[in-house]
Amino acid sequence: MEQKTLTLLRDYGVKPLHELSQEELEVKRSIARITTYTLSFLSRYLVERGFDWVLPVVFSKSTDPLWPDPDFSIEKRIEVEIYGETVRSTQSMIVHKQVLVSLLSPKIFVFSPNVRIETRKRASTGIHAYEFTQLDFEVRGASSSYIRSLVEDMLKSYVSSLKREMEHELSFLGSELPEIMTPFKVVDSKELEEEYGKEWQTSLRSTLKEPVWVVNIPREFYDFEDPETGRWDNYDLYVPRVGEILSGARREYEYEKILSKMKRDGVRPENYRVLLDLAREGRLLPSAGAGIGVERLLLWVTGVRHIGIVQPFPRIPGIVFDL
Ligand code: AMP
Ligand code: MG
Repeated sequence: MEQKTLTLLRDYGVKPLHELSQEELEVKRSIARITTYTLSFLSRYLVERGFDWVLPVVFSKSTDPLWPDPDFSIEKRIEVEIYGETVRSTQSMIVHKQVLVSLLSPKIFVFSPNVRIETRKRASTGIHAYEFTQLDFEVRGASSSYIRSLVEDMLKSYVSSLKREMEHELSFLGSELPEIMTPFKVVDSKELEEEYGKEWQTSLRSTLKEPVWVVNIPREFYDFEDPETGRWDNYDLYVPRVGEILSGARREYEYEKILSKMKRDGVRPENYRVLLDLAREGRLLPSAGAGIGVERLLLWVTGVRHIGIVQPFPRIPGIVFDL
């Protein structure tokens, strides 16, 4: 890691807890209170709407391949052997979510740990961590528009009550979070690519004035792709200053289609045995859902400069602290 980047990050307050000044600790404490409010608000919101709250897993044989994805930048995938079996640390719980809504419960959510060894070049983007948490949820039989409306309503009521209940903390942090207006605008990724080129994600981040949905993004096998039109039934939510805070989609559930997409992408079917078996037996059910990056959400609402500031123990690509 370049010394210049490290110094810059330290100046922002991205440091281990035991090296923070009194003032920096007060910032961290305000963020801890906002985090508590956020987690309790969002979980209550989903529980009140009939979602079952599931506990996360850390090691499995199947995890999100994170490939292909226009935002891909993984330096290393973690595979370890336990009890003579090869397992991978969770990159996201997408496979588990599809299995859960097919077999266990029609609406589920989980605060899922995601380990993604992002390229160290992303240390100073301010939005990438190598460990983070997703509020990941999925609904059996849902459409994309159902999920998008749910997210809009959830975020609108969250921001509104956060501004009321955490007024003191937000003003201490200098956050100027406005109320949000729904529904959000919807833009096709193809239009963005035409307007801004391949780097549309970065451009969007700096130009946005309000939240916007980006739809039809070619990526991993599990997002639904219409074979006739080639359109992807997926959606990402972008917010000003931070960029993408949520990704979601209607899912694939048909065996032949999933298998051929895996082959097309060079993803190994043998790493997705249960998913494929369920699909072949017709037991994998249609669903749609999304995952919100909790730290990115906090970054947005608190207005601080770097994701490492909202993490009690910063996980910055390329920088490994003791704790
Ligand atoms: P993905 O499955 O890659 O779309 O990730 C879901 C959500 O997790 C994204 O919309 C972001 O909010 C968040 N996220 C993804 N990668 C990172 C990262 N490296 N650091 C922090 N948050 C992330
Ligand atoms: Mg994404």
